[in-house]
Amino acid sequence: MAKRILTGDRPTGPLHLGHYVGSLQNRVRLQHEYDTYLLIADLQALTDNFEHPEHLNENVLQVAMDYLAVGIDPDKVKIVVQSMVPELAELTIYFMNLVTVATLERNPTVKEEIRQHRFGRAVPVGFWSYPISQASDIAIFKAELVPVGEDQLPMIEQTREIVRRFNSLYSEVLVEPKALLGAVARLPGTDGGAKMSKSLGNCVYLSDPPETVRKRVMSMYTDPTRIHPTDPGHVEGNPVFAYHDAFNDDRAEVEELKERYRAGRVGDVEVKQRLCAALERFLAPIRERRAHHLSNPVRVREIVLEGTRQGRAVAQATMAEVRAAMKLDYKFG
Ligand code: ATP
Ligand code: MG
Repeated sequence: MAKRILTGDRPTGPLHLGHYVGSLQNRVRLQHEYDTYLLIADLQALTDNFEHPEHLNENVLQVAMDYLAVGIDPDKVKIVVQSMVPELAELTIYFMNLVTVATLERNPTVKEEIRQHRFGRAVPVGFWSYPISQASDIAIFKAELVPVGEDQLPMIEQTREIVRRFNSLYSEVLVEPKALLGAVARLPGTDGGAKMSKSLGNCVYLSDPPETVRKRVMSMYTDPTRIHPTDPGHVEGNPVFAYHDAFNDDRAEVEELKERYRAGRVGDVEVKQRLCAALERFLAPIRERRAHHLSNPVRVREIVLEGTRQGRAVAQATMAEVRAAMKLDYKFG
């Protein structure tokens, strides 16, 4: 049996450049080697969008279209809608007994997100405990590999702990997963913030039209210590260069720009214009494939339904083993 990959995205908006270098690129690269399941995590998105569930509904198919646009092969990969696999909710309940409040409160990513949302003590339990639900997502598919960005490492570690706990308490049913980081583990935002993130509005989306990409890039944060193009500039920690490193296929151009930037021989405008051109080379074919799928939403819906059907079958098989291991497989009558 081929080893499995499970990973996914919250349908809180379209996918962006950070998703690409953090995770999508690895998914595309490994899709023919691994039995791959991509979860559109609408339940997880509900944890901070429960007042506006209608926003998620619109985004589910958009995320699926982004997958297809970057080259996910729907004949190989199963695209699964999380809320359509109720077995995930069941496993989450079982896992809740295997995690302590102290452990959840130590999770650095959740801590940071609680701070960003200004939840304080009014954090919804669903939000605060989402690492448990994420552990179920990974465990129910018995995934060995989880391609993710750096912010997800604490979630994978939490999953590994839960799986070890389950296997030692009941029986060796579940698989301990490994994280696989992308070429860029954490792409900064266009605002210079640590992470490009849908919720922070500092993104370049894979589906953005050229004019939007240009505006985004031209207003990007650069080196704050540099006032004139003749001042020597900093390349490290400068998001414009982080994007050049990640997306510009003309490596010689990137090296030349860095050299001139450090020496104060190139202005921000030229560096940004060249980034626009590089992003266009990268995004144009993605945009073209996306337009093709956008014109056939019925087909995309079919792909998602079929992926979810196959994903659910895997989840049901795992749950039969889980219940047996936990002596919950009562046979009445
Ligand atoms: P939200 O703000 O709604 O949480 P997000 O932009 O963080 O959205 P997610 O759907 O939470 O996106 O993340 C999906 C996957 O993409 C995860 O594996 C995450 O680590 C990865 N990812 C997201 N943003 C980045 C980034 N800036 N750099 C690298 N990987 C990223
Ligand atoms: Mg996120």
